[in-house]
Amino acid sequence: LEREEPHHFGAGPAQLPTQVLQQAARDLLNFNNLGLGVGEISHRSKDAKKVIEDAKAHLKELMNIPDTHEVFFLQGGGTTGFSCTASNLAAAYVAKTGEIAPAGYLVTGSWSQKAYEEARRLHVPAEVIFNSKDFNDKKYGSIPSESEWSDRIKGKKFSYVYLCENETVHGVEWPKLPECITADENIELVADLSSDILSREIDVSRYAMILAGAQKNIGLAGLTVYIIKKTILDEISKVHDDELYKLGLPITPIAFHFPTVVKNDSAYNTIPIFTLHVMDLVFQNLLSKGGVPAQQRENERKAKILYDVLDQYSNFYNLPVEKSCRSKMNVVFTLKKEGLDGKFLQEAEQRGLTGLKGHRSVGGFRASIYNSLSLESVQKLVTFIKDFAESNA
Ligand code: PLP
Repeated sequence: LEREEPHHFGAGPAQLPTQVLQQAARDLLNFNNLGLGVGEISHRSKDAKKVIEDAKAHLKELMNIPDTHEVFFLQGGGTTGFSCTASNLAAAYVAKTGEIAPAGYLVTGSWSQKAYEEARRLHVPAEVIFNSKDFNDKKYGSIPSESEWSDRIKGKKFSYVYLCENETVHGVEWPKLPECITADENIELVADLSSDILSREIDVSRYAMILAGAQKNIGLAGLTVYIIKKTILDEISKVHDDELYKLGLPITPIAFHFPTVVKNDSAYNTIPIFTLHVMDLVFQNLLSKGGVPAQQRENERKAKILYDVLDQYSNFYNLPVEKSCRSKMNVVFTLKKEGLDGKFLQEAEQRGLTGLKGHRSVGGFRASIYNSLSLESVQKLVTFIKDFAESNA
């Protein structure tokens, strides 16, 4: 159970800590001395229930999740989250007000755009509050200042307002939450943290709901973490399917109906317990390293040395994202000279630096520097970026 430490900059599924995978591999064979692996036991057994409880407790500790909020786990990924966010939260708003209001989307890249499109596809009333492309020459890569769009929410009702905190494809990250949203107590803020959960400290009480697919910072693909205000769960459970049907709103499939899942401690149907166990091992590993504050300091250092070298060689590399919203998780860049992309990737691989190809819709390069990627790996990349610029300028 050994491997050479990888330096994998892929956007997801991402590299995980080697010790976590070693423990997971042992537990896949024989968990808690049961003579059975963690993936072979009933999801209703005592040992499986403990995995669920532990994962919940460790996440609560890592994120300081207040008692006003519930944590649960669902099969599927971020995309499943787009759909069940829309249907569950539209229902909550109906229960609370007896009315329908549109959901408002703050679009800063392709994932928030997809979340918006999914709400519309499901016939959940939804509108775009702003699309950052409209402020930046039809391209993603910036977030407009609040003064440029806060008028658009004044006096309006929204069932919820949605944003993606870190746009993984375009490398755009909200530096902080928009105050015009968080200061308005009538707005329920929903955020996709799939690619930056546990990368920095956040105040969970400011969110009505957080969703995060596991396969970047917290584990393997297949599960999504949800953190939701308990009042919203109560509201959703008050609405009858018939009422939603009459209003033309979608009825949530039972396995994704949030109150049903919570009532059954995330095991209404068969939860992939191995995947959850890996997630819990990641949580324990992070706790043992000093938790989110320590991780945040390391992430800030990693992002700084990487952006610094790209800025230093700005005659050779191009950084398409505005400084104020550069992602600390996904560093996107291109070469100014044409025809060298293949060479860059090939020479990077020769040094053991993998996964650097940009998203197919954007091109260029993307270095994803999630929690598990060490400072040493980023230092190796920094040296390569410098050497490549000097020998190809
Ligand atoms: N949201 C964000 C921020 C993502 O980066 C991704 C995938 O990379 C998704 C949602 C979609 O996740 P999934 O592929 O698990 O559906």
